[in-house]
Amino acid sequence: MGFTLHGIAVSSGIAIGHAHLVSHTSLEVAHYGVPEQYVAEEVARFDAALKATRDEFSSLRSNRPSHAAAEFDAFLELHQMILDDSLISKAPREMIERERCNAEWALKVQVETLVAQFEEFEDAYLRERQTDVKQVAERLLKQLVGKPGHQLPAARHDVDTILVAHDLSPADLIQFKPQQYAAFVTDVGGATSHTAIVARGLSTPCVVGLHHARQLVREDDLLILDGEQGVLIVNPGRSILAEYKLRQSEWELDRKKLKRLRTARANTLDGEAIELHSNIEKPEDIHEVKENGATGVGLFRSEFLFLNRDELPGEDEQFEAYRAAVVGMDGQPVTIRTFDLGADKQIKGAERVANNPALGLRAIRLCLAEPMLFRTQLRALLRASHYGNIKILIPMLSSVSELNQTLIFIEASKYSLEIDGIPFNREVKIGGMIEIPAAALSVSTFAKKLDFLSIGTNDLIQYTLAIDRTDEEVAHLYDPLHPAVLQLLSLVIGTSNKLGVPISVCGEMAGELAYTRLLLGMGLRQFSMFSAQVPNVKQRVLTTSLPEIATLTQKILRADDPMRIRELLDKLNA
Ligand code: PEP
Ligand code: MG
Repeated sequence: MGFTLHGIAVSSGIAIGHAHLVSHTSLEVAHYGVPEQYVAEEVARFDAALKATRDEFSSLRSNRPSHAAAEFDAFLELHQMILDDSLISKAPREMIERERCNAEWALKVQVETLVAQFEEFEDAYLRERQTDVKQVAERLLKQLVGKPGHQLPAARHDVDTILVAHDLSPADLIQFKPQQYAAFVTDVGGATSHTAIVARGLSTPCVVGLHHARQLVREDDLLILDGEQGVLIVNPGRSILAEYKLRQSEWELDRKKLKRLRTARANTLDGEAIELHSNIEKPEDIHEVKENGATGVGLFRSEFLFLNRDELPGEDEQFEAYRAAVVGMDGQPVTIRTFDLGADKQIKGAERVANNPALGLRAIRLCLAEPMLFRTQLRALLRASHYGNIKILIPMLSSVSELNQTLIFIEASKYSLEIDGIPFNREVKIGGMIEIPAAALSVSTFAKKLDFLSIGTNDLIQYTLAIDRTDEEVAHLYDPLHPAVLQLLSLVIGTSNKLGVPISVCGEMAGELAYTRLLLGMGLRQFSMFSAQVPNVKQRVLTTSLPEIATLTQKILRADDPMRIRELLDKLNA
């Protein structure tokens, strides 16, 4: 009997194959007392397992497969840091000595305490990090019980195989060769889990958060995975199977065609040139930018250089990172956003507690409150501007006085470099992010003082609709098509175009096909998105005629009924 499970779609594509199950990886361990004379030996056993796990991480790092996503190093670093944290590496030793218990039990108790602490976090991203703690603990546990490494079943090569697991760590995923598995399915995890991010990087269809797939699916069951809709169909009937085979070949054909578009210009049918840029987090992401045919970086979220580390990166380290990105882009523009720290992205060891973090000391507000931090970054950015086409982007501007202070900081940094005799581009372009309704409503004031603008729709929607974007309980209210959001977008794009100030969108809306024509109709000519989304959006641009979408776009902007807006949008995208 067939059945269907619904989860969270994290990496698109359709896979049809037989199930391969990975054994349940919960921390089931024995508990027994250790006689006093053997306690030192038990502690030594724990230390040996710790060392073996560290060695395992080092070997994973040095044998990093070339197809691995750039995030892999960051994940490994995070897992190594968790392993080295005293709560994992020291507390169990102390418990073995204090309570004379076996090492596995001490580790399990410690991990459970830690996981309970993570469970308390309000921030969904931080809460999800408990998965990383469990994955590290499982690795360590396997060393303790004498089964090093996560032994995943080998894929069979005669048929496509879909891996079904309760959970998979990013390190597990990364060990697979491309195409070794047709898809990944897990019971746990969310859209922002590291496993999801790595699966996306490997371009393998993946659905997470299926809850009971590991229990309900049996070895060798025939599965269909729709990574677009987040659906897993188990033992489908003949007609469903035939339909999905057709969809799968259409999808594969589309991917092949899209690959051919890499070097094509993104021009509309009526010949208007559209710029499609990428969002990146690290200089290593540049190869993906090029692979997908983006013609620039529209958003480098520089704060990622700051996360998951004990020491802040100094001016030289930052300079090297920015220079690597700009040199890698060979003269194409690289828009680097100054740190958007605060709220859900905190500096380790300097976390701030605020009643409303999204409304607190975040982004440019934090930079202006921490002059040394800001000056260091500005000097590094300016120094890198000597080596290519760097643009500096200021996040979360809300008032002109903030902008004026920022411009003074930039001038002061230029002056200090001149005094030091260090070269930089005097004409480096400075832009601002429009992501607060106040800034959107006074866009002309910002446009007159800046070289370019970029709309951060993720935050603009959050602040316009008063919906915390990290709170899953109000996620259903997060609506890019809310008439108020559309009015603000149209106002900002229209005003910037009228004033001749380049405007782009770098929030998630820019990469979602459903909104490409709507944004084009509003007058947007520059989009910045996750690199893998560029080919799809390019194809949509190539099949769009601006004169043809003008009337429908105006109708959408005049509509106030959400159902009507969706109806008109469907027509626009037909
Ligand atoms: C945005 O707010 O749309 C944006 C691009 O910035 P971030 O998602 O990093 O806040
Ligand atoms: Mg933002």
